[in-house]
Amino acid sequence: MSHQNIYRSGPDKFHDECGVVGFFSPDKETNCAPYLYYGLYALQHRGQESAGISTMKDGKISMHKNTGLVADVFSGGQLKELEGNVGIGHVRYSTSGEGGRTNAQPLTVNTRAGAITLAHNGSLVNDQVLREILEDSGVVFQTTIDTEVMVNFIARNLSQGLVPAIRKLVEIIKGAYALVMAFDGKLIGVRDPFGLRPLCLGKMGAQYILASESCAIDTIGGEFVRDLEPGEIIIIDEEGLTSYGQKNWAKKKSCIFEEIYFARPDTVLEGRSVYASRHEAGKILAKEYPVAADIVIGVPDSGIPAAIGYAEASGIPYGMGLIKNKYSGRTFIQPTQELREQAVKLKLNPIREVIEGKRVIVIDDSIVRGNTSKRLVEILREGGAREVHFLVSSPPVTHTCHFGIDTPSKKYLIGANYTVEEITEMLGADSVGYLSVEGLLSSTKADGDRCLACFTGDYPMEVPKLEEMVSEEEERLKLGN
Ligand code: AMP
Repeated sequence: MSHQNIYRSGPDKFHDECGVVGFFSPDKETNCAPYLYYGLYALQHRGQESAGISTMKDGKISMHKNTGLVADVFSGGQLKELEGNVGIGHVRYSTSGEGGRTNAQPLTVNTRAGAITLAHNGSLVNDQVLREILEDSGVVFQTTIDTEVMVNFIARNLSQGLVPAIRKLVEIIKGAYALVMAFDGKLIGVRDPFGLRPLCLGKMGAQYILASESCAIDTIGGEFVRDLEPGEIIIIDEEGLTSYGQKNWAKKKSCIFEEIYFARPDTVLEGRSVYASRHEAGKILAKEYPVAADIVIGVPDSGIPAAIGYAEASGIPYGMGLIKNKYSGRTFIQPTQELREQAVKLKLNPIREVIEGKRVIVIDDSIVRGNTSKRLVEILREGGAREVHFLVSSPPVTHTCHFGIDTPSKKYLIGANYTVEEITEMLGADSVGYLSVEGLLSSTKADGDRCLACFTGDYPMEVPKLEEMVSEEEERLKLGN
């Protein structure tokens, strides 16, 4: 077995941001597909490349998945074809445009014990080893995604029973994952032992919902019950819900980037409103980095709550200085740097009336490569701003994420390679200020139970040496936002 490429499974390895949802009704006549559809719709921000739903009726699985947004994938009456009182759904996000339909989820396999369907959010760090073990035993893989490794591992152990098969999987896979599965008329949810990726539970009468974010439970019309515990396995059937803990629970290290950027502000993560955390981050930033200015504006959408918090704490008026085009997609698919830079303008345009002649504080949730912020400073100056102070409601991103947040290798992270002074010059800003790690932690009210690795390099488990393995071409494709 070659260990050179031990941590890679293919070109999709670095962009596994996704959203998952699951639904179970004890009434066999209920059709769960419309609920799953609404849930996925609410999680669309977690993935725009592909969407899919699989449902189970009398042990048989029906599935529809394709590339595109949820509304487009299910625009042709496909929901009506999906029958069953239990099912799962998935939205997938991709930055390079590779994978397409083949790598869309859920994935379904037929085993001797019955069909199983699985959807996954997160990223494994040892999937290549597992893939090779499975290939040695004759498994032929159809996709390049971790999910296929997981579903195969469960399938080969299912004869020992569902819970032992899942436990075995949890023991063997390393990384971040939130899984939803349907098997034998049951809905199953699994969260990784560090709780890196989010997964929560909701109820709607006698029906159960699993979702990456609580906003999906709200949208379906259910009531949020709780987050799954790190390492928890939940099995839901006619008897109700059974929870199985893992023997060696790790200390919780849920991903702080969910709170900073990825999750919707109306979501509650780890018992705390995402909006409240972002708002508080802005307030703390105002104390840590006070600037004399006439107006505070936020970069839509994830910078807005922090900008409001900063304005409240500083007494500087808040204004809507940037408008986001709701219909613009993500900008990194643009092939050249020039087009990518233009694409920021396509997405965000300033309101001259708000910023003209003013000393502007603009707040974004994060700077990763610095492309977006550089362009934003230019846009604001073109819009008439007299001064532009670029503040960030999180610390400098200095390390690559290996657990499902799409960040490039270290050499492309502006915060890893330049001082704040140099960054200020590169962005063309009057000043640049970041929130401290302590300020960030305090904004989430977290007590050391967050993964802060992208800011500190303190990974909760051993991680691959990515930098050597990422080609310039892959990086080029991932440039920009
Ligand atoms: P950049 O510094 O140009 O790489 O992009 C930073 C911008 O991208 C910020 O406005 C963030 O809101 C946004 N952002 C941060 N992290 C991510 C991510 N993992 N995927 C997509 N966009 C992100």
